[in-house]
Amino acid sequence: MKKILVTGGFGFLGSHIIEALLSDPENHVHVVDNLSTNPLPLDFLLSIIKNKKHLTYDIKNLIDFNPTESFDEIYHLAAIVGPAGVLKHPGRIVKNTVDDTYHVMDMAQRMDARLLDVSTSEIYGGGRDGFCSEFMSKIIQPEITIRLEYAIAKLASEIALVNKVNSSNLNAVIVRPFNISGPRQSGKGGFVLPRFILQAINNKPLTVFGKGDQVRAFTHVKDVAAGIINAMQMGRMGEAYNIGNMGNKTTILHLAEDVIRYTNSKSAIIFVDPKTIYGEKYAEANDKYPDDTKSGMEIEWKPKFSKRDVIEDTYTFMSSIKDPKILEYLS
Ligand code: UDP
Repeated sequence: MKKILVTGGFGFLGSHIIEALLSDPENHVHVVDNLSTNPLPLDFLLSIIKNKKHLTYDIKNLIDFNPTESFDEIYHLAAIVGPAGVLKHPGRIVKNTVDDTYHVMDMAQRMDARLLDVSTSEIYGGGRDGFCSEFMSKIIQPEITIRLEYAIAKLASEIALVNKVNSSNLNAVIVRPFNISGPRQSGKGGFVLPRFILQAINNKPLTVFGKGDQVRAFTHVKDVAAGIINAMQMGRMGEAYNIGNMGNKTTILHLAEDVIRYTNSKSAIIFVDPKTIYGEKYAEANDKYPDDTKSGMEIEWKPKFSKRDVIEDTYTFMSSIKDPKILEYLS
């Protein structure tokens, strides 16, 4: 039996990773999660996750989690998330993120576990006109925003981790996901697809921010979960891998049009300044889409789900939820 720890395992991405891991009866999965940004109530999430025989959990902050048992693998996902979500934590994001990373690094070393760190595509700061390759520079933008603190926190964690790998017995890999989307994502953090889908279902206008010419590559959460698991199994120590679907590259205006088309909605599209919704401190990310060559070659990752699949799967899930309490979590 393989013993696996997933930090933040009850989050949007985490729930899909634990589901994929639990489908192998040889895996025992332990989750540590403080439920600070869980997209669904825990009892509901547990009711839809299959194969729970080998699932255990602790509801607490990661920093307070000091297990006596050992794990073979640690997936580190626990983090503050979302362009709106980060706004609640100015000046604390670097400390929280880096402290958590050191905590999992120490745990992994002590247990001789393999560690996978989920970083972010935001460390590229937009790359070269949005094209982000692992072989390019990381760009720090001139304007200091709360969003920049998040990107820098993730980059600082990556650098500490790589230096530790290169100077000790720590065995760790990094992944940088691009616009993870799909069933169970909540619009609370500011994420665009659940917001557009709920707007479309309710025939309310889709709120496109700015001119809608921002470029993103929406990547199905199941593809991201598979890429992360592949990276854990096959990734080279101290290396970082982009996990993002280049084929799903789109502008936000096109995404809004696709959502209306694929959901047969009567919604209109309106252009909105996001600061009128989230306040003056909201910051937009630069365009970003991945070079997926390295993950294709080294960890055999190839995304399966098209942009249409991402939209339709999210729509199917959202429309299946009727309980107002659960809808409140998701909106
Ligand atoms: N966005 C939008 N309308 C919304 C929410 C977001 O047009 O109601 C835009 C946002 O400006 C960004 C893109 O959608 O350019 C993706 O936003 P998300 O928060 O999902 O991801 P990120 O900005 O982190 O790439």
